[in-house]
Amino acid sequence: MSTNPVVLSIIVPVYNEESNLDYLFQRLESVVQNLNLSYEIICVNDGSQDNSLQDLIVHHQRNSAIKIINLSRNFGKEIALTAGLDYARGQAVIPIDSDLQDPPELILDLVAKWKEGYDVVYATRRSRQGETALKKLTAFLFYRVIGKMSKISIPPNTGDFRLLDRRVVEAIKLMPERTRFMKGLFSWVGYRQTSVLFDRDPRLSGKTTWNYWKLWNFALDGIFTFSSIPLKVWSYMGLLISCLALLYIVFLIVRISIIGIEVPGYASTIVAVLFLGGIQLISLGVIGEYLGRIYDEVKQRPLYLVRDIYGF
Ligand code: UDP
Ligand code: MG
Repeated sequence: MSTNPVVLSIIVPVYNEESNLDYLFQRLESVVQNLNLSYEIICVNDGSQDNSLQDLIVHHQRNSAIKIINLSRNFGKEIALTAGLDYARGQAVIPIDSDLQDPPELILDLVAKWKEGYDVVYATRRSRQGETALKKLTAFLFYRVIGKMSKISIPPNTGDFRLLDRRVVEAIKLMPERTRFMKGLFSWVGYRQTSVLFDRDPRLSGKTTWNYWKLWNFALDGIFTFSSIPLKVWSYMGLLISCLALLYIVFLIVRISIIGIEVPGYASTIVAVLFLGGIQLISLGVIGEYLGRIYDEVKQRPLYLVRDIYGF
């Protein structure tokens, strides 16, 4: 254990990345060695089923600055990052993906901005290579919607690759919530933020664990944890429908008093019943989205469980 305080902590969530680790460390280590700072690389093994853990241990034995947190199972990237933040001791902390989609060389720029006095330096994608048009479109829409719906501004095209000053890390550690939408939390804290631009590379090898269903749920997490507009919109919807119903009632009364009762009305009755039924189910579903998240919070379970740690 070295006695000099760690300046830079790099957090790498690892889930089935055995084919990328060697090259990752090669690039990462050459960058941090250039910086001439004391550093640690915290790898969070998020329940990988391949040989990632064994590979990480080999790297840890070679370079003691590489430390490992082995979680008890797969908890997902957001939780893996949280575990890394809890263990990191550096004055600056940088989470980075292990598939080399975030170029390690950019760490030099991030650290340079940090030394200028910024507390959060996020890396914004200028381009997204190796991503389909559909993925780009859905990402664009997501940032638009969440930007409109929540009071905090989440910088678009920005992943978790960013530099966080110690004071920001401490602020994030104060947030106990279980539904961890990291991009939102990182923005929520405020402080002096700035960005650097980069081109996002395609994944080196292996394949992403994200599919559209997961991304959809991720987007819902973001929206429901950072906005209560979906809850409020139903009061206005209800008001609007009530007003329309009132107008229709007046119309019916007038018509009945002029031309008398007209028995047929099957279609309009069915339309009204189905429409209102649908609206009510949607609004119940929205309440359910919040209720489920509240349930997760009140259970107060630990965010993650650690099986072993290496190097701490
Ligand atoms: N990851 C993780 N746990 C998971 C899924 C992914 O720790 O359950 C890690 C993964 O090893 C990688 C990072 O999160 O370092 C980003 O994952 P991925 O490349 O699959 O996501 P994308 O780049 O497509 O957003
Ligand atoms: Mg990736």
